[in-house]
Amino acid sequence: MLIAGRDDTIRYDTDVLGRRSPASWVARPKGLEDVRSIVRWAYAERAEFVVQGANTGPVLAGVPRAGRHQGVVSMELCRSMIEIDVPNRTVTASAGVDLDSLNVLLARNGLTLPIDLGANPSVGGMVAANTGGARLIRHGDVRRHVLGLEVVLPDAHATVLPLLRRLRKDNRGPDLKHLFIGSSGTLGIVTAAVLSVDPLARHVATALVAVHDGDDVLRFLTLLEARAMEHLAAYEMLSRPTLEAIAKHLPSGIRWPFEPSRTSDLPPFLILVELSTSDSANDRHQTLEDDLTTLVGEGSALGWVTDAWFGRPATLWALRHAAITALHQEGPMVAFDLSVPRSQLFETRDQIIALVAGSAPHARYADFGHVGDGGIHSIVIWPQEMHAERRDDEQDRLRDAMYHLIAAADGAFSAEHGLGPENESAFRRSSPDVRDAQAALKALFDPRRILGAVDLS
Ligand SMILES: Cc1cc2nc3c(=O)[nH]c(=O)nc-3n(C[C@H](O)[C@H](O)[C@H](O)COP(=O)(O)OP(=O)(O)OC[C@H]3O[C@@H](n4cnc5c(N)ncnc54)[C@H](O)[C@@H]3O)c2cc1C
Repeated sequence: MLIAGRDDTIRYDTDVLGRRSPASWVARPKGLEDVRSIVRWAYAERAEFVVQGANTGPVLAGVPRAGRHQGVVSMELCRSMIEIDVPNRTVTASAGVDLDSLNVLLARNGLTLPIDLGANPSVGGMVAANTGGARLIRHGDVRRHVLGLEVVLPDAHATVLPLLRRLRKDNRGPDLKHLFIGSSGTLGIVTAAVLSVDPLARHVATALVAVHDGDDVLRFLTLLEARAMEHLAAYEMLSRPTLEAIAKHLPSGIRWPFEPSRTSDLPPFLILVELSTSDSANDRHQTLEDDLTTLVGEGSALGWVTDAWFGRPATLWALRHAAITALHQEGPMVAFDLSVPRSQLFETRDQIIALVAGSAPHARYADFGHVGDGGIHSIVIWPQEMHAERRDDEQDRLRDAMYHLIAAADGAFSAEHGLGPENESAFRRSSPDVRDAQAALKALFDPRRILGAVDLS
């Protein structure tokens, strides 16, 4: 169960962006009782550790904290249970089960867990990060799907909270499971979850629409919601600098949907719009495509949409999901995962661009994101050749200023990636009363503070 020796641990102590902080030890439990044994030992030894799922989180929360001699409890072998209850429209799954495998099995029953992202996370990791993704506008975040959890507390007894319920209605008192959803691995170890799942989308219509400015991005979204809310499944933005990076680093197998000349003449914003339905009637596909064409036509007649490309969903989504990898290849970067009320999104974006120009004069700005739910991934990229110390200085100053700006805009410094050492400085700015309440919870569940890369106190 335990892996010792530095080379063996690289997989577990290097994060998705390649940042490494060596683990003191790695344990790979196979189920609940293994997790409890590890916790009892860690409690007795005061051995700190982080829980790790698929290790796709970008805020350093699932790898040991630098300088803290932490171990890793990897949940990758906790995969024994996947129980689909079709009449109840739920699935009960072990924490280490990955999203893609879960969805393959669900699809055989006409069902899906409609969390969509460019990575393949674990059930436990999605619960702990309260993953959002590209279809949140229609299906909500992971919290909306969690009906029950089994959680091991990092206390002397490795107490198990038996909250693994399959109920959609349950008001027997405060609902403790919500404390662990989005807790970023700081309060307990999720060993299994009951998830409410949805009927599989049978027909999907997608388009990329070009939009000139932020006001028009929001106007077109309002039109779509007014006319097709029940079918609107995604509204994803790629700004011009992001499109340029995708064009430059286009992964093999992905087709650039525009004429080659368009790489130097791209619109300020491209929006990926998706409509979908679970209605399997044969003629539904055509009506859905017709609906999308009509709506794009209306947006165009109103002057909000300047161009449009209709294409196979897989092709257009591949382009969208290529964004972060393409930007990553442009140079050392800091990625901010922000959200603000939708109505303020583009005003805040203008402020962010001005702030980057002022605080990080050597850097470039690019962004993309789930604008349909007020999310924006703001990426700041430095020249490869810039001296690391100078770059680090600029990055620290920028982080500070950005968190200040986003707090003033009543936004969130972590929209969907959770809390980790990467964004902890913003967490430390929360109101003292909120932090006191969180510290009290931490002391209750984790009295020796052995769990997690971030200490909530
Ligand atoms: C290319 C790419 C695209 C992405 N797109 C999105 C996106 O669109 N939306 C989005 O929300 N996220 C996105 N992410 C982030 C990431 O995939 C999610 O946060 C994911 O849910 C993390 O799950 P994981 O299993 O990889 O968890 P890990 O990365 O292993 O861990 C993440 C956090 O969960 C905790 N944790 C893991 N398992 C457990 C457990 N069993 N019990 C308690 N705590 C646990 C860890 O301690 C850590 O705090 C993306 C990541 C990548 C690399």
